[in-house]
Amino acid sequence: MLYDVIVSGLGPGGATAAYELALKGLNVLAFDKEKFPRYKPCGGCLSLKVEKVLPFDFKSVIEDIAYGAVFTFKSKRPIPIISQRPIGYNVNRNRFDNLLKEKAKEAGAYIREGERVIGIEECDDYVNVKTSGGSYKAKLLIGADGANSIVAREVLGLNPKICVVAIESELPAHEERLSAIKGRLLIDFGCIPHGYGWVFPKGKNLSVGIAGISDKVKSGIKEYFNGFVGREKNLAGLDISNVYGWTIPYFYDARQRIAKSRVLVVGDAARLVDPFLGEGIYYAIKSGQIAAKIISDRISHDKIDLSQYNEMIAMELYPEFEAAAKLGSLVYNYPRLWYRVLEAEPSLMEKCYNVTRGEESYESFYADIISRIKTKPWRLIIRWLKGHF
Ligand SMILES: Cc1cc2nc3c(=O)[nH]c(=O)nc-3n(C[C@H](O)[C@H](O)[C@H](O)COP(=O)(O)OP(=O)(O)OC[C@H]3O[C@@H](n4cnc5c(N)ncnc54)[C@H](O)[C@@H]3O)c2cc1C
Repeated sequence: MLYDVIVSGLGPGGATAAYELALKGLNVLAFDKEKFPRYKPCGGCLSLKVEKVLPFDFKSVIEDIAYGAVFTFKSKRPIPIISQRPIGYNVNRNRFDNLLKEKAKEAGAYIREGERVIGIEECDDYVNVKTSGGSYKAKLLIGADGANSIVAREVLGLNPKICVVAIESELPAHEERLSAIKGRLLIDFGCIPHGYGWVFPKGKNLSVGIAGISDKVKSGIKEYFNGFVGREKNLAGLDISNVYGWTIPYFYDARQRIAKSRVLVVGDAARLVDPFLGEGIYYAIKSGQIAAKIISDRISHDKIDLSQYNEMIAMELYPEFEAAAKLGSLVYNYPRLWYRVLEAEPSLMEKCYNVTRGEESYESFYADIISRIKTKPWRLIIRWLKGHF
């Protein structure tokens, strides 16, 4: 049998693409190596942009609504910046991803869980996909198989080694501890090179994690995590031994090719993660939708060619990623200076919240920070140097 589309991986990127394509009446077969619901290490904070693009209600799986964050520097000098309006929805990925997968199934996609894609062969008129359970043919293949995507590596030659390394733990916490942090995120700068630590409430659980760029963190991730957890008052006395390591393939190269004739990749497989905050769920969903659109437009052509997906993604997503990369290099290369700026001008963060709400751009947020640094350069630099030495 020849399917229209095979999807490898059913995280937010793959489930969204499968849902959209099945709704359009295409014959879709989707695999995931895991059986759902499955755990995925993740802070699980959805920006409000997700609400704008998902075509169905997901309120039933929201564990906590964040109205702002308490920022700290090495777990000291707290700056609570709480907004009138939400900035994010915290979800457990096992429930959120299961919902998206069920939506794809309801829309008519054939779902095969617990079956891993192990090989891809590109032929003139179809793609042959080998899995742990058999061999399948489709006109087109979507790689949505995450940070270590076999499709991205073997078909498109993307490099998974340039990444952020992360450790996350999800643990139950008592009501008293949860109520101290409910409705807000805790974000700590300075606890790891080129990254940050977090504590996010998720219903009866806390997500505790730390992430930093791999070539700066080197092999020290566990020590940075232990240091962060040890300093953090909100975590005192908790048993945080159940930890998971993972990688985050942040965007760094606008010249990357993420599609060719009959194959394209979405989400983490395509390195579509914001290099400032590490937000990836929205971009996985958005790229799944863009992929579905281009596929449904082209599937009936005599000679199918998906390479225009490269340009569509570049146009829609890369300008924001490029501005986020500039921000990341300012904030994470000079975390003390950044923290001084934030202490002096906490209202700056409202602008960042508007970015996560999809109401402003990273470019304008970056321009605002630079203009504030320029108006008080000597004061800030002197204060920074005093703190630095
Ligand atoms: C510690 C951590 C914290 C994060 N926090 C946030 C956050 O708070 N907010 C946010 O927006 N983003 C966050 N991210 C990023 C976010 O998790 C990812 O960007 C997002 O999950 C990408 O979705 P995806 O569908 O592309 O891939 P994934 O969610 O990784 O899904 C890929 C799927 O493919 C399956 N798969 C893999 N290989 C195969 C194979 N060979 N065959 C079949 N199936 C396969 C996997 O089982 C998985 O289900 C975080 C990431 C990490 C690591």
